[in-house]
Amino acid sequence: MDGIRIDLQSDTKTRPTAAMRRAMAEAEVGDEQYGEDPTITRLCARVCDLLGAEDAVFLPSGTMANEIAILVHCRPGDEIVADASAHIVHFEAGGPAALAGAMIRPIAGKRGIFTAADLAAAIRPESRYAPRTRLVEVEQTANLGGGTVWPLDQLRAVVATAHAHGLALHMDGARLMNAVVASGVPAAEYARGFDTVWLDFSKGLGCPVGAVLAGKRQHIAEAWRWKQRIGGALRQAGILGAACLYALDHHVERLAQDHANARMLADGIAALPGVAVEPVDTNIVFFDVAGTGKTGDAIARELARRGVRMGAMTATRMRAVTHLDVPAAAIPEVISALADVLRGRGS
Ligand SMILES: *Cc1c(COP(=O)(O)O)cnc(C)c1O
Repeated sequence: MDGIRIDLQSDTKTRPTAAMRRAMAEAEVGDEQYGEDPTITRLCARVCDLLGAEDAVFLPSGTMANEIAILVHCRPGDEIVADASAHIVHFEAGGPAALAGAMIRPIAGKRGIFTAADLAAAIRPESRYAPRTRLVEVEQTANLGGGTVWPLDQLRAVVATAHAHGLALHMDGARLMNAVVASGVPAAEYARGFDTVWLDFSKGLGCPVGAVLAGKRQHIAEAWRWKQRIGGALRQAGILGAACLYALDHHVERLAQDHANARMLADGIAALPGVAVEPVDTNIVFFDVAGTGKTGDAIARELARRGVRMGAMTATRMRAVTHLDVPAAAIPEVISALADVLRGRGS
């Protein structure tokens, strides 16, 4: 967008670095659809190691990873239990209904995460009247919840409850590595007990394209059938896979910097009049501007004129996401631009 110097709209705004582009240019490639791309093969093996999974498949996007996983787990008329704020509820164009014929039963969790008791209450008793509860879906981190990290014991209790009811488990790990870096808990520990888990490479990890869906061998075999069916099977995808491998080597630990920047931003915003900042676990800062007398859209427009972009997720709830392309030095600029907007100063 013209004139935007600092783009906090999303961590998808990262652009591949010069070193990442070199790794892409030099990638060893083959025909991915035939299983002959050595770089994709290495990437999938690497993600299996990371997540403690049996098998994995490279996909063009995280949305495709969620939708394929739902197709693998659910039959028409089945129900998915997920937090009411989940990406599959709000941002996938109705895919669970349109593609898998599945319903979603939303749980009103706290900050995007729910408890084992919440889950138990949402599971349908066996009855010919009710949809069949089939799948439990969690987001690690919970995006609209505020970049919330699921505590490991709470996640384990949810997994145990799902297993006790014979339900499948799917993890939307768009920002799983943010949770890993923030908590120090290994990715495989978070993934334990889940049938399918995926990682997004095009968010904070800084790649242009790519997600890897991992899980049990039979689920990934079925996922491949869907990938083929909906046109997600690729050719010389190693160009993209090389970026993902580069990101695993160079862009994971640095997520801590994004988290520190998010906290710095939250502290600065909290000091402004009329603004209520939500807790910050990782790289996402939500704040409510109802007390300023302005709408989120109006504030976003005025910030954009000052070269700063962030999104209004509801009429008064704004979101700023830190990432690779937002250096620490940009944060004080963002805070002072917001302070100017709230004081009604001209740019
Ligand atoms: C971005 C996002 C997705 C979708 O990923 P894409 O790669 O953009 O399709 C899914 N879930 C969550 C929580 C996300 O933030």
